[in-house]
Amino acid sequence: MWIYFGASILVESSHKARWGHTPWTIDFHPVTRALPEEVDFVVLGGGFSGLSAATWLRLLEPRKSVALLEARSLGAGASGHSGGMTLAESSAGDLPGLGDVLTGFSSILRELEVDCDLALPGAFELGRKDPLPDSPIAWDDSGDLRAVKQVPGGSVDPGKLVSGLARAAHHAGVLLFENANVEKVVFDEPLRLYAGGRQIRAHRAIFATNAQSLEVSGLAGGALPKFTLALATAPLTAAQLTAVGLASRKPFYTTDFPYLWGRLLSNDGIVFGSGLVHLDDWRGFSEIDIDVGEPAALMARLESRVHGLHPLLRDIRITHRWGGPILIGEQWRPIFGTHPQSSQALVFGAYAGHGVALSVYLGRWAAEAMLGRRALPEWDES
Ligand SMILES: Cc1cc2nc3c(=O)[nH]c(=O)nc-3n(C[C@H](O)[C@H](O)[C@H](O)COP(=O)(O)OP(=O)(O)OC[C@H]3O[C@@H](n4cnc5c(N)ncnc54)[C@H](O)[C@@H]3O)c2cc1C
Repeated sequence: MWIYFGASILVESSHKARWGHTPWTIDFHPVTRALPEEVDFVVLGGGFSGLSAATWLRLLEPRKSVALLEARSLGAGASGHSGGMTLAESSAGDLPGLGDVLTGFSSILRELEVDCDLALPGAFELGRKDPLPDSPIAWDDSGDLRAVKQVPGGSVDPGKLVSGLARAAHHAGVLLFENANVEKVVFDEPLRLYAGGRQIRAHRAIFATNAQSLEVSGLAGGALPKFTLALATAPLTAAQLTAVGLASRKPFYTTDFPYLWGRLLSNDGIVFGSGLVHLDDWRGFSEIDIDVGEPAALMARLESRVHGLHPLLRDIRITHRWGGPILIGEQWRPIFGTHPQSSQALVFGAYAGHGVALSVYLGRWAAEAMLGRRALPEWDES
């Protein structure tokens, strides 16, 4: 038996304000109700990972009860603050047995009837040497930044993805709870979780808390929590999009440094992202204010880079600024395995900045693994 008493209570209202504002909203929130005393399965974390896993648990085992506990509001972590690029593979590239992430992601969205503006036109890798001869992108950013390769990829609206997955979870019969911060877990049989002064007994659990609550998820020391930044510009005209090289609507990310990624919004504004704030402890997320200190300095640097990329962007208005947590695993590999404290629990996450498609895709796999229908991957030594 292992007991953890340490996770501090997180406060929703202050978080939203300090992490900035995204161009999208999350328009599904569950009704408030009392936490159950006992369930078959509990999922911790209401981001893409947890919502996908919880939904698939119910779809695969409709007679079993599933509760999803989210500390603040659905999508309050990385998922609601994501950039929305949908990328193939993982931040560590392909992994043994991973399969085709984008095809799996697309088919999950179809099966769950999630409309999140998924488009897969491909993506550009950008670099400062060996450009594609026909690179539509010619930017000035610590050298001549050009497209160097075309790869599979695309984008979604992260607000619609969180909302759509939450609706699918609700329709599947998942009991969804916001403001249910799990402060303590007793790894006994059944598992005992403590949230909001109540105890919940659960026979099995999936931990999808990503960069937060690392002691509860068993990931403390095994992965690094960081905070990363993004901004959105005012819409560009079609002629301006052509001139800056984005008429194909392909998202882009650099493969060298300084890092820069981005994509078009449906209103023809551009999202750009870059910058990492290092945290000694995940509890530091609750102190981050994007208008103060290192996050503010990194945001100013990102803005200045965006304005310098192309003459047409020199005076472009910045409409939104925000940031969110990411978790970086060893050698950038995602984590997916049995919880170190209990064979009755799984933990998955640590996708770095590469988790939109992967989180939803692995959510289904996590549910299948929890039900003994599919083996867990072996990525530790790969
Ligand atoms: C600014 C930014 C841009 C990004 N851009 C991209 C991109 O363009 N493409 C891409 O592929 N990836 C991107 N990512 C990464 C991607 O968003 C994440 O990998 C993905 O959202 C992770 O989803 P998740 O459900 O695992 O984690 P999260 O969305 O972080 O969900 C974890 C949830 O757990 C909750 N929680 C934590 N502790 C507890 C507890 N004790 N009890 C209950 N609940 C708890 C949190 O409140 C949170 O809602 C970006 C991330 C950021 C921050």
